[in-house]
Amino acid sequence: MVEFNYIIMASQIQKKPFLLGKSLSELTDWVQEQGQPAYRGKQLHQYLYQKGVRSLSEISVFPQKWREDLANYPIGRSIIDYRTIAPDKTRKYLLRLHDRLLIETVGIPSRDRLTVCLSTQVGCAMGCTFCATGKQGFTRHLQAHEIVDQVLTVQSDFGARVSHVVFMGMGEPLANLEQVVEAVKILNQEVGIGQRSITISTVGLPGKIRQLAEYKLQVTLAVSLHASTQKLREQLIPSASHYSLGKLLAECREYVKITGRRLSFEYILLSGVNDLPEYAEELSQQLRGFQNHVNLIPYNPIDDADYERPSKNRIDEFMDILKRHKIAVSVRYSRGLEAGAACGQLKTANKELALNN
Ligand code: SAH
Ligand code: SF4
Repeated sequence: MVEFNYIIMASQIQKKPFLLGKSLSELTDWVQEQGQPAYRGKQLHQYLYQKGVRSLSEISVFPQKWREDLANYPIGRSIIDYRTIAPDKTRKYLLRLHDRLLIETVGIPSRDRLTVCLSTQVGCAMGCTFCATGKQGFTRHLQAHEIVDQVLTVQSDFGARVSHVVFMGMGEPLANLEQVVEAVKILNQEVGIGQRSITISTVGLPGKIRQLAEYKLQVTLAVSLHASTQKLREQLIPSASHYSLGKLLAECREYVKITGRRLSFEYILLSGVNDLPEYAEELSQQLRGFQNHVNLIPYNPIDDADYERPSKNRIDEFMDILKRHKIAVSVRYSRGLEAGAACGQLKTANKELALNN
């Protein structure tokens, strides 16, 4: 009997290894395959997505014997390897995946929101010279359930519903487009997060912004521009050498046309590199005719990079030039900077820990 159960479990593991990511009807099919009544599918759905159980043995409404049998069934949750809490209450997590690789997730509370900053890859292949993740190189894509798991982890740890999601952690979301779109759908339909409360950030890959537009999601797109000339952009984002600024902006215009959604541009400010007034003028010209918003991100220092954060005066001057050109602009300071843990930094800081485990 034990052996028989094992064979059933093994075949299911091959078919679709993890329960996380399945819809209510798929979960209902699954409980029925296990010889249970259909209503247990709804219970399973609630415990997976709302209560955030890490093991099926925690589902108190299930019969005791079945819970014991299912205790080690793979549901697809990560393990919190390390957590740090900044004075502003931002929590940064290092999460261990099933293959022992580590990713970062951040939970950012504010007065009426709980925002999660999600990773989409282990590492990143784009190689941005100012980014700690870029310095780590690329290891692998995350699967949709591994993206969803990060939201559930933050939700459980804060004991509060996540209201907003930003794809601004490790990795380039459009390089892993299908899994990211699948994760958006699961977050929307199973976890209950509004698509309009989800932002996908990208440096842009040829054809991918257009491809995202075709899914007709209601998410907000944030494009990491960082430079107003092709030459400077390639210097900061090596992958941009395969994608001209003109083509990127043309695809952004197409995105707006297809989706009817606005998009925002992100521009990291690196002292003496891309923060000069003439670049602000040039940026204003590049963005003419766009209904958009520019987020200026003062550089958050990382190891192994020679950049510096500009002075407050420089930031204000850059912002004023954009405003004069009637561009909506705001400055975004990284939250939880005190913990020394911007995108990719937590993992870099804990590399030894990661290697030793
Ligand atoms: N790969 C995507 C999403 C993840 S990076 C992208 O690049 O858009 C998310 C944001 O973090 C980007 O806008 C990037 O510019 C910013 N970022 C990376 N390293 C940073 C640093 N050292 N200081 C400030 N912002 C940084
Ligand atoms: Fe990758 Fe974004 Fe970092 Fe660039 S900034 S290396 S695209 S994660």
